[in-house]
Amino acid sequence: MKVIQSIEEMKKEMRRHRHERESIGFVPTMGYLHEGHLSLVREAVKRTDCTVVSVYVNPTQFGPNEDFEQYPRDLDKDAEILDEEGVDYLFTPKDSDMYPNEYRTYVEVQDLQDVMCGASRPGHFRGVCTVVMKLFHIVGPDRAYFGQKDAQQAVILKKMVEDLNMDIAISVLPIVREKDGVALSSRNSLLKKEERSAARCLFRSLQLAMEAVRGGKRESSEVVNLIRNEIGKEKSAKIDYIEIVNKNTLESMMEIKQGRTLIALAVYIGKVRLIDNMIV
Ligand code: AMP
Repeated sequence: MKVIQSIEEMKKEMRRHRHERESIGFVPTMGYLHEGHLSLVREAVKRTDCTVVSVYVNPTQFGPNEDFEQYPRDLDKDAEILDEEGVDYLFTPKDSDMYPNEYRTYVEVQDLQDVMCGASRPGHFRGVCTVVMKLFHIVGPDRAYFGQKDAQQAVILKKMVEDLNMDIAISVLPIVREKDGVALSSRNSLLKKEERSAARCLFRSLQLAMEAVRGGKRESSEVVNLIRNEIGKEKSAKIDYIEIVNKNTLESMMEIKQGRTLIALAVYIGKVRLIDNMIV
């Protein structure tokens, strides 16, 4: 595996692979890799000729009071893991190359960026879209892989690619969970021991919601209440949002419709903000 920091070098390598008519698969990440990331990596390795993974903790998607500094990082270990997975390139650009002082250009996906995580993290998706757009231009993948864990991000990036007529196929793969149901996240490493067990309330409440839906409940407000009560049982948990929306448009749904509805939540466990979701 080649580890590349320079944007120009990355572009040059990718031009070579395109010239050879090889398909390029791309997995953008912020590193501190876990099995959730690796499910995307394995799919890319299996389906494309040349696999590129980026590890870049993108400063523009963090708000001023968010956890950019605390975000866990371990590039050496990430490189070791990716090498074992058969990845061809690890791209680790520098902040000063991605956003030099005179940097001025941002990408926004209107409306979709303002709800759910976007409402509590203003500017977050502007940062995400901008960095992903830049990475797409540098790598020039045929297909890029994202996780359903970040459901809103996947919807927004698909819309960006569609609206800007980009020839990049987007694959969204299922959430990978721990044995106890907690969705894998690099941020889980920031949880203290008691908090880690409290974090189970996200999955538990979603499961309860799914059971209620299977039992015939359709009214969104009732399902939201069920989730709120379940999470309320955890002292260290503070709800950021619980949303029941159309899985493609992110528009609120008063009634749950099988196959079309996304139940998504964000919950603070202590200081750590966790997200999770299920498609009905
Ligand atoms: P991140 O490093 O958190 O920016 O995540 C990089 C990619 O991995 C994103 O597309 C995430 O949605 C995906 N991802 C993160 N956690 C999981 C998970 N538990 N299951 C599936 N995909 C995940």
